[in-house]
Amino acid sequence: MSDLDALTSSAYSQALEVIASVEPRVAEATRQELADQRGSLKLIASENYASPAVLLTMGTWFSDKYAEGTVGHRFYAGCQNVDTVESLAAEHARELFGAEYAYAQPHSGIDANLVAFWSILAHRIEGPWLEKAGRKNVNELTEEDWEALRKELGNQRLLGMSLDAGGHLTHGFRPNISGKMFHQQQYGTDPETGLLDYDLLAAKAREFKPLILVAGYSAYPRRVNFATMREIADEVGATLMVDMAHFAGLVAGKVFTGDEDPVPHAHVVTTTTHKSLRGPRGGMVLATEEYAPSVDRGCPMVLGGPLSHVMAAKAVALAEARQPGFRTYAQQVADNAKSLAEGFLTRGADLVTGGTDNHLVLLDVSSYGLTGRQAETALLDAGIVTNRNSVPADPNGAWYTSGIRLGTPALTTRGFGHDEFDRVAELIVHVLQNAQPGTTKAGGPSKASYVLGDGVAAKVKDASAEMLERHPLYPGLDLA
Ligand SMILES: *Cc1c(COP(=O)(O)O)cnc(C)c1O
Repeated sequence: MSDLDALTSSAYSQALEVIASVEPRVAEATRQELADQRGSLKLIASENYASPAVLLTMGTWFSDKYAEGTVGHRFYAGCQNVDTVESLAAEHARELFGAEYAYAQPHSGIDANLVAFWSILAHRIEGPWLEKAGRKNVNELTEEDWEALRKELGNQRLLGMSLDAGGHLTHGFRPNISGKMFHQQQYGTDPETGLLDYDLLAAKAREFKPLILVAGYSAYPRRVNFATMREIADEVGATLMVDMAHFAGLVAGKVFTGDEDPVPHAHVVTTTTHKSLRGPRGGMVLATEEYAPSVDRGCPMVLGGPLSHVMAAKAVALAEARQPGFRTYAQQVADNAKSLAEGFLTRGADLVTGGTDNHLVLLDVSSYGLTGRQAETALLDAGIVTNRNSVPADPNGAWYTSGIRLGTPALTTRGFGHDEFDRVAELIVHVLQNAQPGTTKAGGPSKASYVLGDGVAAKVKDASAEMLERHPLYPGLDLA
């Protein structure tokens, strides 16, 4: 055991003892969570394993500090150390992504998108409107001014990728605030190929003339050409916002470069920090100089006090992502997704778009006679953690679905490579081939219940255990 491993092990053992002295059941659940994560094949495309250094950074007294405002301009006294860690997080983000400006405060991906939406509205609508009305700032507005400004703000258009094509619910989906605060339309993918059709998208943009064009996805297994996206945005006078929550790690690791790197092309880029980027649970906004002053108003516009302990952990994670090893990791994530896809295709499985060139694979399970929900739960019985996901024009809707989304970031962190991902595909196909839809209480076909063949779960768990043992999670972490 290395010195660092020994330190990590004793840090966690002792921390759990301290926690157990107050509420032992929380300490026990925390231990159990590690055991469960160690013992299952995690293929959830939005999850990963952050390093012990990142995790330990979150458990400190920075959590106790209020720091509303921005670096050097806080509404609270005594923020000098928060200033240090927030500046470090922003500096690492700017260097890593080549961004002009970075805002490290958003608590999550959804919060980053809210900051982006409102700062784009402030920049594009509020500023010019104030000037026209002859007011220096919002404090000078009269009741009539407010009424007129609200009308302007509430009358804007957003064009985003539809949920069933792989977009995110914050990109204009009806039940989300983005679908309520904007007049929204959605673009989809070609029904034949499952690929983005930029000509169709451009035609839609010309007709709809959105203020904001949102690019980015949670379940689209292909790369996006952000140079083309920017051309479309420029042609219709839209602000291009790219939500790279899922694939930020591939951007950071220089797997996506040139036209596939959103940062040089977008006005505003939002992200999470805990998915392929492998940092703490949180969000971040990158922007051009032009948009920086309005993004900087995220607090108090839509955010309260920043999570200083998480900003500190973002600084640590971004420092890790600037090490050369992160590029190797990101390339391996993409290579492994290819291995997984090939593993499915050679076994006759049906993949949306016929494959992948990012970190995720979308498996259509209808050829096994199953819904996504049945496949998801049958796989979970066999120790394989995935999530069900709609496929384009899904006949089973967003609850039952017809797909399973699989991502490689987490198992790549454990050290899985080509052979393991081929084996993972084999095990998944084995489970799905041996699962059958169950019946409802009334005797009809069920979209939820299923019957898994005798011994299938146990056999798959055994095969997984061997791989999981060969690639342990937090190998140096030995809990007493
Ligand atoms: C995951 C995700 C989000 C939301 O992130 P949270 O941290 O869960 O709020 C936003 N946008 C996209 C594209 C995502 O994939």
